[in-house]
Formats: sequence, structure tokens, C-alpha cells
Amino acid sequence: MLTGKVALVTGAGRGIGREIALTLAANGATVIVNYNGSKECAEAVVAEIVQRGGSAEAIQCNVSDFTASEMFVKEVLDKYKKVDILVNNAGVTRDNLIMRMTEADYDAVLDTNLKGAFNMIRHLSRCFIKQRNGKIINISSVSGVLGNAGQANYSASKAGLIGLTKSVAREFASRGVNVNAVAPGFIDTDMTKNMTDDAKKTLSSMIPMGRMGSTKNIADLVLFLAGEHAEYITGQVICVDGGMCI
Ligand code: NAP
Repeated sequence: MLTGKVALVTGAGRGIGREIALTLAANGATVIVNYNGSKECAEAVVAEIVQRGGSAEAIQCNVSDFTASEMFVKEVLDKYKKVDILVNNAGVTRDNLIMRMTEADYDAVLDTNLKGAFNMIRHLSRCFIKQRNGKIINISSVSGVLGNAGQANYSASKAGLIGLTKSVAREFASRGVNVNAVAPGFIDTDMTKNMTDDAKKTLSSMIPMGRMGSTKNIADLVLFLAGEHAEYITGQVICVDGGMCI
């Protein structure tokens, strides 16, 4: 159980982040439901948590903005005094073949997926080190492990997130702070819903289990990594992908 723990989940109004927020709250954590543009969705997540007897608050922040993230972290620490669990989930895609990829599309993806996680870890690092306790979970992707044609920017950001995870895990290991990455495969969310049926079929054929995963599959692992049973696990990248990375 996570009773008494404060969890901050970025991009928690929708998709995988929403499921992670609901799962951590259902297990006793007070959850900061971060969003960028989806205010109503984030408020609905908070309402659902509160209705089930949990505790949560929605706070807006564009995590790719260094200064805004710093103010966001300050607001959370002023109010809650600590953060025990940080889940860097916020992510975007701007897919294209490298020949056609614009600088803006490259920068937008790196800024949110990689720099966003850096910003949050950076601003919370003093808090984690002082606490000598904490769990940081970065949501990477199988694209960061395997690469993916048409996703050079996204794959680079998610591979970068793995490097960030391993380096910070080494820095924080002696301070009682665990840092791990979860690499989802092909999960049913807004991010994947606009793919054509043909593209979905092709992708499914690359999955040994032959089907997409659910947001619950990811949230279940995050719950484990956020809890005391994961005490001796750090610097790892765990794929939840139906076997794609075998
Ligand atoms: P999604 O449904 O598109 O949701 C993306 C979330 O990220 C939204 O809540 C969005 O918040 C948030 N976000 C985007 N930019 C942000 C910013 N600058 N600041 C704060 N929040 C921001 O995507 P998803 O499928 O749930 O993906 C969640 C994570 O899993 C991402 O990191 C993604 O790369 C990763 N992942 C997904 C899959 C998959 O198959 N779905 C596979 C591998 C990895 P707003 O709506 O408020 O902007």
C-alpha cells in the first residue's frame, strides 16, 4: 500500500498517465494529476479518485518549460511538503520519415519527452536526496529500445530517457532513491487510436502475443515499481510489450 505517500504523475489527464494516477490513488497515495492542455480530463480524474475515497489535485504545467516546471514543483512542495513518487509520463509524437522531419517536430518531441523528464527530476532532486527515499519512474517506449522507422525524434527521446534513467539511478542509488524506466509496447490510447487498421495489423504482427496492451498493463508495473517490493531494483528498463523486445 502507498498510504501516506505523495505521487506526482505528469500528463495524467488521459491515457496511460490517467490509469497510473487512478491506480496509485486506489492504493492509498495522494496524487498530483499534472496536465498541460486537458484541464477537464484532469479534473475528471481527480473527481473519480475523490469519489472513490482517495485524495488528488489537478495542477497545470507544461513540463517542457524549465521555469514553469520549477514553479510547479515549488507549488507542490509548499503544499504537500514532499514527493515520494515521480512518474514522468508526459509524452508526444510528431512522426515522419527523417527526410521530411522538420526541426520544429524534432524539438517538440525532445522538449516534452526528454527535457520534460529532466526538468521534473532536476527540480525534485534536492527533495529526493534530502528525503533519502523515493521512486522515480520514467515512461520510455519500445521505440527507444528497438528504434522505429518514422519515429527518429520519438525514438531518440525515449532512448535518451533510458540514458537519463540509468545515470540518475547511479547518482541516487546510495540515497535510497530508485530510478527505473518502463518501456510500453503498443498500448491502446489516444496516441495510437489514429493509426489505420492496416498499420495496426502490421504492428500487431510484430507482437509475439499478437495484440495491443492496455493502460492497466502499464499501471500495474508502475504500481509495483512505486512500492516497497521494488526496493532493490534501480536503473532498469522493463518492457511491457507482449514480447516485442524479446
Ligand atoms: P496520450 O493519450 O496521447 O497522452 C499523452 C499525455 O501527455 C497527455 O495527458 C498530455 O497532457 C501529456 N502531455 C503532453 N505534453 C505535455 C506537456 N508538455 N506537459 C505536460 N503534459 C503533457 O499518450 P499515452 O499513450 O497515454 O502515452 C503516455 C506515455 O506513454 C507517453 O510518454 C508515451 O510516449 C508513452 N508510450 C505510449 C505508448 C502507446 O502505445 N500508447 C507506447 C510506448 C510509450 P494534455 O492532454 O494535458 O496535454
